Amino acid sequence: MVYRKKGKLVIFSAPSGSGKTTLVQRLLKKDLNLEFSISACSRPKRKGEEHGRDYYFLSQEEFLRKIKEGEFVEWEEVYKDHFYGTLRSEVERIRNQGKNVIFDIDVQGGLNLKKNFGGEALAIFVMPPSLEELEKRLKRRSTDDPEKINLRILKAESELKYAELFDRIIYNTDLEKAVSEAENMVAEFIQS
Ligand code: 5GP
Repeated sequence: MVYRKKGKLVIFSAPSGSGKTTLVQRLLKKDLNLEFSISACSRPKRKGEEHGRDYYFLSQEEFLRKIKEGEFVEWEEVYKDHFYGTLRSEVERIRNQGKNVIFDIDVQGGLNLKKNFGGEALAIFVMPPSLEELEKRLKRRSTDDPEKINLRILKAESELKYAELFDRIIYNTDLEKAVSEAENMVAEFIQS
């Protein structure tokens, strides 16, 4: 039997609009043997999104059934009636191939994963330059209506308080710098 080392976990968390998704996408292109953990969620699909690529889009009913059956490593009602979670099967599928798993999840979810996996996981918090900049980015992105944007800003404010509980913090003021810092951090961790 061939023994294959189980992959490690790299968690990127941040308030939405911090640029963590861009960072994660950039890291996936590097030679780090990373595969993206596709989360499940119960929010409607946005334009351009695909089931099984961006998320596993489930109905609320399906999502709640999976919670009951213990299929999630972590899950959360991130916004009212919008559930998000990491499926155990997804993490195992990637790790069993000897690949490292990279997560793009919210702050509470990131901390829950870290609690679950301890030293097998590196939890990185992506800090936005400021709340004002965050608000600008969310408005520029304009995938949500103003009410939803306000909810995201309120949530972001409370999430910034948790940064210190993460293993590392990356300040995302200059994207190129942040990418290179993240690459070094991840490379060091997966080689350790
Ligand atoms: P969006 O609706 O913009 O795709 O995501 C909303 C928030 O949910 C983001 O902060 C995103 O990181 C978070 N999220 C995505 N997947 C998961 C997950 O599996 N678990 C948790 N706890 N949050 C997630």
